[in-house]
Amino acid sequence: MQKIYFDHSATTPVDPRIVDAMIPFLSEKFGNASSIHSYGREAKVALEEAREFIADFCGAHANEIYFTSGGTEADNMAILGVARQLAEKGKHIITSAMEHHAVLHTCEYLQKQGFEVTYLKPDQYGEIHPEAVAEAIRENTILISIMHANNEVGTINSIEKIGEIAYEKKVLFHTDAVQSFGKLPIDLSKLNVDLMSMSGHKIYGPKGVGILFVKKGVRLQQTSFGGAHERNKRPGTENITGIIGLAKAVEICKNNLESDEDKIGKFRDLLLKKINENIPRVYLNGHPNKRSAGLLNLSFQGIEGEALLLSLDLKGVAASSGSACTSGSVEPSHVLSAMGVKPELAQSSIRFSLGRGNTIEDVEYTVEILVEIVERLRAMSPL
Ligand SMILES: *Cc1c(COP(=O)(O)O)cnc(C)c1O
Repeated sequence: MQKIYFDHSATTPVDPRIVDAMIPFLSEKFGNASSIHSYGREAKVALEEAREFIADFCGAHANEIYFTSGGTEADNMAILGVARQLAEKGKHIITSAMEHHAVLHTCEYLQKQGFEVTYLKPDQYGEIHPEAVAEAIRENTILISIMHANNEVGTINSIEKIGEIAYEKKVLFHTDAVQSFGKLPIDLSKLNVDLMSMSGHKIYGPKGVGILFVKKGVRLQQTSFGGAHERNKRPGTENITGIIGLAKAVEICKNNLESDEDKIGKFRDLLLKKINENIPRVYLNGHPNKRSAGLLNLSFQGIEGEALLLSLDLKGVAASSGSACTSGSVEPSHVLSAMGVKPELAQSSIRFSLGRGNTIEDVEYTVEILVEIVERLRAMSPL
């Protein structure tokens, strides 16, 4: 049976070139970067080269790059770190209702600690308008956290404009760029972004490694304690293997950024076109054009998204649901709900997220089986 992977927003297959780059650090180059002997120095050199390479790629300085265990930890460090650092100054945070749970749940925790959080609603396309951010700023606002590209629908927010507003009002700006880093051009030397989160496994690198960019001069309270690693911001022996993999992932993205995105976007558009031509009552969720190249979130009216996913999986196609399934009860996705998508359409949504390895044959095969599956499920559906 064919196996087709259309779930790159959840995670990506690790590029074999990245595996090759990592292997020496799992074997002979096993040193601890804090040790002073030759093993340690070798690890330290590799660590700092990786940091410089990544910094250079996104227009940052090496000393503004902190390695973390992933996007989730970077989001936590940024939001908790700023909140605790600036709590005396103010206790109001602005974010959006369509953030990743790494941001939302951190903000909910802070609400229990006495912070006030404004959750901005996106428009029907999933966009957070910069004017809405400006209007929400108060005297006591200390942080704005708005994601760059959304992971469920792919809508891209203007971090340029939001950054300008934050800068003018002297409020710190954090962006979760996990879904855009390595895919969209980001030049931190030109943006008013104070903190940015990134992750390795969404860009064909290993899991368990990420980055927090912290602009020079921005102070964060430490959120975990131990050694002096990562200049006291993130203690714990550095995950050298993962960091080497992440740097290699960035190198590959850097060399293929435009061609990859162009190809993925074309396949994504072809998938949508063929679905529209062959299946009635399908609706696109997300922005028609301000959207990540790989993302296609569709509602198939009259069908449960979960049933569609299972049928696709039986035919070898891995996609994912816009809704999170918790112990039998299917809750509609918080992102689609925030966009005002009706519950029944939200429940009938699935997300295809395409990546570098997909082919035109993948698109054609998927449409073929989708036509059959949708017809069969609609015939059975009581809706
Ligand atoms: C995947 C993802 C995260 C979490 O990153 P991990 O490295 O898996 O912890 C955070 N934000 C967004 C938008 C994501 O897509």
